[in-house]
Amino acid sequence: MITAIGEMMRECYSRGWITTRDGNCSLRRKESKFVYITPSGWRKNLIYPELMVRMTLTPDKTLKIPEGAHPSGELHMHYLILKDAPATRAIVHTHPTHVIAAMYRGFDLQFVATQFPEIFRYTRVGPTVPPIAATTRELGEATAKALGVSGSSMAFDIVGQSNHGVCAVGDHPWSAFEHIERLDHICEILLASGVTPEEVRDRKVLK
Ligand SMILES: [Zn+2]
Repeated sequence: MITAIGEMMRECYSRGWITTRDGNCSLRRKESKFVYITPSGWRKNLIYPELMVRMTLTPDKTLKIPEGAHPSGELHMHYLILKDAPATRAIVHTHPTHVIAAMYRGFDLQFVATQFPEIFRYTRVGPTVPPIAATTRELGEATAKALGVSGSSMAFDIVGQSNHGVCAVGDHPWSAFEHIERLDHICEILLASGVTPEEVRDRKVLK
């Protein structure tokens, strides 16, 4: 699964969802004390298992970072989503072009997702996080809240982060990737259709 993180990040890069040093991914296996996360500032198209930062989650839920390691700047976001996970959880943060364009244009991602079975059958889209500076604790907290993280439960699979990106959660790095893929695809369709955010608001909910 650690190897899959590198493969998945390379696919994100080849799709243009991240520029070379952007994006991050973390993983915690069921009941494991280890949390793996991509290193900060490293070229994400060159992530191999030995480059992943392995941290230890202590019984009091503190993260111990190995000396000299440089975990992703979005660590707090990953920590809040992983610390009480009851099962294996992988978290992926990327900057998918069509999703960011749709948010910037004023579309409500949660409502848009009610229009296309391609997404609402498989992916729960949460409320969009307002514009908050990257790598801040505030962004981490707002993202975990939008995902509906409460103790061990979670209400949604993916949320948009205005003017920035998305955060997706799955039981495997590729499951989180698929949530991003579906959301980006329907946003591409939406933008190609030429419909305005105002017109979409009047559409019938199909979900
Ligand atoms: Zn980002």
